[in-house]
Amino acid sequence: MKFYRIKPQSDVGKLKKKMDTLLFRILVLKRDKKCEIHNIECSNLGPMHLLSKQTNPRLRYCEENIIIAGWYCSHYYTHQNSEDERAIYAKKRIEEIRGKDYRTNLLIYERMCPTLSITMLNMMYAGMKQKYEELKKEKESV
Ligand SMILES: [Zn+2]
Repeated sequence: MKFYRIKPQSDVGKLKKKMDTLLFRILVLKRDKKCEIHNIECSNLGPMHLLSKQTNPRLRYCEENIIIAGWYCSHYYTHQNSEDERAIYAKKRIEEIRGKDYRTNLLIYERMCPTLSITMLNMMYAGMKQKYEELKKEKESV
């Protein structure tokens, strides 16, 4: 009998996840706690990458590449079935928000983005933490 152990997450993997969470908090502070597809507080809000983290890793922390979306109202279907009406609607909304050429524009932007080395990630993380604190203070003072 063979036993399969779940691969423990590497330090870089953990850092990336922490950065995903922090960037999402920054976006919520900047844009509001709403699903951008439906303009209401849909359930299980999270960051939806327009160009995926797998195919376009350098755009993982690019704010323009992220839409705040509910998992069950749209995000799940964009992964599972692009023919689903919820996925089609999400695509239409993304084009309304970001413009019809959003893919092309992101690909152009990607060429200027650095490769995410561990040094680069640490630098970006430090910058994100600072930005988050600043945004929080701004919100509190309003
Ligand atoms: Zn929604």
